[in-house]
Amino acid sequence: MTTDCKPRVVVSRCLGFESCRYNGQMLADNLIERLKSHVEIITVCPEADIGLGTPRTPVRLVKQQGEIMMIQPSTGEDVSQAMHAYNQSTMAGLSDIDGFIMKSRSPSCGPAGVKVYASSGKGATAEKGVGLFAQVAMQRFPFAAIEDEGRLKNFHLREAFLMRLFALARLRQLIAEPSVAGLTTFHASHKLLMMCFHQEMMRQCGRIASNGDGLPLAVMVERYAGVFREALNRQPGQRNIINALYHGYGWISEGLSAADKKLFLDAMEEYRDDRVTLATMLHLLKSYVARFAHDYLGSQHILEPYPRDLFNLSDSGR
Ligand code: SF4
Repeated sequence: MTTDCKPRVVVSRCLGFESCRYNGQMLADNLIERLKSHVEIITVCPEADIGLGTPRTPVRLVKQQGEIMMIQPSTGEDVSQAMHAYNQSTMAGLSDIDGFIMKSRSPSCGPAGVKVYASSGKGATAEKGVGLFAQVAMQRFPFAAIEDEGRLKNFHLREAFLMRLFALARLRQLIAEPSVAGLTTFHASHKLLMMCFHQEMMRQCGRIASNGDGLPLAVMVERYAGVFREALNRQPGQRNIINALYHGYGWISEGLSAADKKLFLDAMEEYRDDRVTLATMLHLLKSYVARFAHDYLGSQHILEPYPRDLFNLSDSGR
């Protein structure tokens, strides 16, 4: 299952949209290319947009008296204020954002591991920090899925990012058209997916959706959304995923032959040892949905948490 509601994603413009890097180049990115038909993309290039020009000499983050500034060493220009003003006005114009894909290590866009220097001159880096645009993005949208293109080359990080991105878009759709029936269906169909991220929060969401406290709909949806986002704001652990898979298997195992059961349980052990992927396990569950016409298992978003053509086994190995 996927969603009619396309995720809204902010992307660094140099990642396949415009030759706006400091050296006048653009970087092709396979995932972003494939995402184009499945998400709504808003591009930003903070450095070009504040008028630094392309090509330009690089800017860097410099820490002075405890404050992080953005300096262009070749000119000595301090562009921090221009960047802060740009960040504030850009953020004010953004709404309903589900995720960010930012250029790694950029002093503007990098969401982690950005070099921060002790001075604008030659010298070693003082520490690692966050790009100025990325920092404001994380403050403004604390529950959005945010990654850089480098980390997304890791298979597990990419899978978790896409799961979150599309789940957050579906949540946004629920919030836009709230109803008790909609919330009940939403929770039921995200049960296994949520289990992969946080089991206790999945149960907490279940209690909110069943509305034992008799809350008004708007309060219910707001509370539900808060816990849902909180749960998805972490990496799904393998133990949780295995638990969720067993849970789904439990719904249909009675109808399986001894040979079928052995096949599934053996595959689970292989998944535990990283010898088969989550997609293989989900495919097995989907085959049971087809065989037994099991609507409840078939309704689970975990079976297809994001569009199939975004699935790609490639991995950076890092
Ligand atoms: S990393 Fe960000 S600021 Fe730098 S070129 Fe790319 S989009 Fe522009």
